Amino acid sequence: KNLDSALYAAKSNGKNTYFYYDESINKDLMDKIEIQAQLRSAITNQEFDIYYQPQIDLENEKIIGFEALLRWNHPTKGVILPAEFIQVAEETGLIVTIGEWVLKRACEQLKEWENQGFPSVILAVNLSRRQFRDKHLVSMVSNIIEETGIAPNCLELEIKEEIAIEDINYTMQCILDLRQKGVLFSLDDFGTGYSSLNYLKHLPLDSLKLDKSFIDSITEDRDSRAIISTLISLARALGINVIAEGVESGSQEDFLKDAKCNQAQGFLYSEPVPAKAAGRLLEIVREGGKLDGEIWF
Ligand code: C2E
Ligand code: MG
Ligand code: MG
Ligand code: MG
Repeated sequence: KNLDSALYAAKSNGKNTYFYYDESINKDLMDKIEIQAQLRSAITNQEFDIYYQPQIDLENEKIIGFEALLRWNHPTKGVILPAEFIQVAEETGLIVTIGEWVLKRACEQLKEWENQGFPSVILAVNLSRRQFRDKHLVSMVSNIIEETGIAPNCLELEIKEEIAIEDINYTMQCILDLRQKGVLFSLDDFGTGYSSLNYLKHLPLDSLKLDKSFIDSITEDRDSRAIISTLISLARALGINVIAEGVESGSQEDFLKDAKCNQAQGFLYSEPVPAKAAGRLLEIVREGGKLDGEIWF
């Protein structure tokens, strides 16, 4: 809303009229307006890229698949992380266009890996609130699956817990519609949205992603460890995969294995890497190698 009125003020300011603003109040606003303008040109100038972070099967240390993570190759600022621009993209609605591009590009990449002899890679793609609420979501996803020719059950859509629980009936219907097309579904950043554990029983989920803050607390105190173990057991008992996010140390991994967590993602294995490097990681693991966090740029 603030952004809209600032844009309105900027637009209605004719060339000869004197326009001023309070810098302290409008610093953030002007940043946002600038980011918004640059995001628009980023789309046309093809400045976006996707990095891929492996998700590991803790039982055999193989790569199950990757999470697609958006990067912005800014012409002067270099690589910009989503934290700097996703919110503005969301507020302005640009995320719908950007998100569609991400999905399309990620599915094309998935198809390439299939053609290179990696047919069962699962690709996880993040959906923002606006994308999730978009009435064309299901048809947009089906069209991309059809156009790229990927197997629908190799695509997993991630939605943050806090968004999923805002309107549980909508969430349920949306997941059911997508699952009918064969697409997998996971709940992202679990543990940060204060959802009732009861939802776990009702939502038809494939995976639950334990937020990094949980994983960080493993090494801190016994209570956290007890909570995490219980969550993992509960989810596994319900037939849901549990992915630990942000695993950085061997001791965290040891604990997770003991707690029967089945999947992990984090710098311990690999940072998000460009598509080519991700392909190389697939080859390394196929040849019997293990991911040890070394960066393959
Ligand atoms: P997320 O979906 O929870 O993704 C995981 C984030 O944790 C990624 O940050 C990843 O680089 C980071 N991460 C993974 N392992 C570790 C670790 O061991 N240590 C640390 N410190 N960090 C780790 P990234 O790529 O900066 O993305 C941040 C968030 O931006 C994502 O969180 C997701 O919510 C959002 N995002 C990224 N790409 C997209 C996209 O294409 N669309 C939408 N809507 N959101 C996206
Ligand atoms: Mg995610
Ligand atoms: Mg997450
Ligand atoms: Mg996160």
